[in-house]
Amino acid sequence: QQEQWAKLKNEPTMTKDGSHVELVANIGTPNDVEGVINNGGEGVGLYRTEFLYMGRSELPSEDEQFEAYKSVLEQMGDKPVVVRTLDVGGDKELAYLDLPKEMNPFLGFRAIRFCLENEDVFRPQLRALLRASVYGNLKIMFPMIATLEEFRQAKAILLDEKEALLKEGVKVSDSIEVGIMVEIPSTAVIAKQFAKEVDFFSVGTNDLIQYTMAADRMNERVSYLYQPYHPAILNLVNNVIEAAHSEGKWAGMCGEMAGDPIAIPILLGLGLDEFSMSATSILPARTQIRGLSKEEIASYKEELLSMATAEEVVNFIQEKTK
Ligand code: PEP
Ligand code: MG
Repeated sequence: QQEQWAKLKNEPTMTKDGSHVELVANIGTPNDVEGVINNGGEGVGLYRTEFLYMGRSELPSEDEQFEAYKSVLEQMGDKPVVVRTLDVGGDKELAYLDLPKEMNPFLGFRAIRFCLENEDVFRPQLRALLRASVYGNLKIMFPMIATLEEFRQAKAILLDEKEALLKEGVKVSDSIEVGIMVEIPSTAVIAKQFAKEVDFFSVGTNDLIQYTMAADRMNERVSYLYQPYHPAILNLVNNVIEAAHSEGKWAGMCGEMAGDPIAIPILLGLGLDEFSMSATSILPARTQIRGLSKEEIASYKEELLSMATAEEVVNFIQEKTK
């Protein structure tokens, strides 16, 4: 089987009926890029930049960040690299920021909420990204967007830094796509309105499931409610994909669900364009997708979306794709 996977390393990901989808990887550091290339990744769908900020006693400098982003972009050549801006808070604490303890950290002051109030942290990251943008195919993604105002504000700060750099004579790419993570239900519900302003969506199911089901992703006692195949999740994901396509944009997914062999056929049928997963899942997923017909699964879409339980969904899709 390993051998069969290896043969697909340099092949695009095509379904049995000739549709292409992109299989890309989640990474945490520039060292992870080698694994992406060795596993035939068509790009990076999520670069979690938190790791640059963790395990140290002070913020990383703009130059240090620039070097890391440049290294990832250069190694990936012309392949897309989606870099997510800092997502601290929730389960990811940084001691040196000295943030107050919260009753509900997952519902608290994290990610874009923190960055918009701490521009002294946010701006250097954006500058580092903009400076690195000329070394590859960079896309910038904001995490935990709950409202359009947050997106507009983040994008305005990005454009402001871009202007400043250009004035300083620093080269910046003009083709950087700017998108958002969809991991909060409010955003999934009004994806249509967002789609007019963002360049792309990436669904973060790890958080989207916990917020939709009101079940903490770290709490074993309620893990039975953490249901990726729940029809509520599928309807939200479908809403995001349809919204993107209606505005000529693309929709990806970078939560664990994107690499899950049970979810893959469903997501393919809903029309997901990009699947971002751990590098080692890419070749198995490519093998699976080559055996699936997108049109056929798409013909079951309405039926799947109107199901009442996750169990029904799983039984149905397993029967149809066996
Ligand atoms: C997600 O929420 O699905 C996601 C990819 O982000 P993280 O797991 O880093 O919260
Ligand atoms: Mg998340």
